[in-house]
Amino acid sequence: MIKVTAVPILSDNYAWLLRDEESGCRAIVDPAEVDPVIRAIDAAIAAEGGSFDMILLTHHHGDHVAGTDAIRAHYGVPVVGAKADAHRLPKLDREVWEGSEVDLGASSAVVIETPGHTRGHISYYFADGGVLLCGDTLFSLGCGRLLEGTPAEMFKSLMRFAPLPGETLVCCGHEYTESNASFALHADPDNQDLRAYAQRVKELRAMGLPTLPSRLSDELACNPFLRAGDVATLADLRARKDKF
Ligand code: ZN
Ligand code: FE
Repeated sequence: MIKVTAVPILSDNYAWLLRDEESGCRAIVDPAEVDPVIRAIDAAIAAEGGSFDMILLTHHHGDHVAGTDAIRAHYGVPVVGAKADAHRLPKLDREVWEGSEVDLGASSAVVIETPGHTRGHISYYFADGGVLLCGDTLFSLGCGRLLEGTPAEMFKSLMRFAPLPGETLVCCGHEYTESNASFALHADPDNQDLRAYAQRVKELRAMGLPTLPSRLSDELACNPFLRAGDVATLADLRARKDKF
């Protein structure tokens, strides 16, 4: 069973601290900053025991990887990332691809290749505990910009997530939910589930709380990009959102 905690970093990014409940093993996903991540790891170990064991990377952008080398040096742990982007990621101790399994204590993640935002973007899915680390592919009520990929690639990547269990916790790379909600409501004004979700998001943000992780069932009901249905609709939504 994996427990997940958001570690707020930079202006609106999250690194995700994972803990395998059975073994106490931990991993951090996308540590773009050093000090807040080390503080979060050390505080978790002081409070609950266990160990820190691994760094997982979703894609090569600086706002996801910048603290990697310093954190590896501090704890002496291995770094896992996409073989396809090994040339532009921090030095990898393990290169992974579609279907690779990454063990964290008694839990195991499967790697899902999710190109679109970047060519080599990958996501990690822990079936036990239902945790999806999706970087900048899927956001709550949004999806990543198509910086290197096509709408067809992003559509295919999002459709990899759709069949996962509804209770899956969606751990995105950014706290973009409130601004994504504005566009989502503009694109799908009659969606009552979306209206209710957007209201909850507004309340959480007003209290200074994260809106993430979200539930995949909420994204399937409310996220226009996940609900696009075909590539042309997704392409149109993405183009409109880019100018919104
Ligand atoms: Zn990115
Ligand atoms: Fe990012």
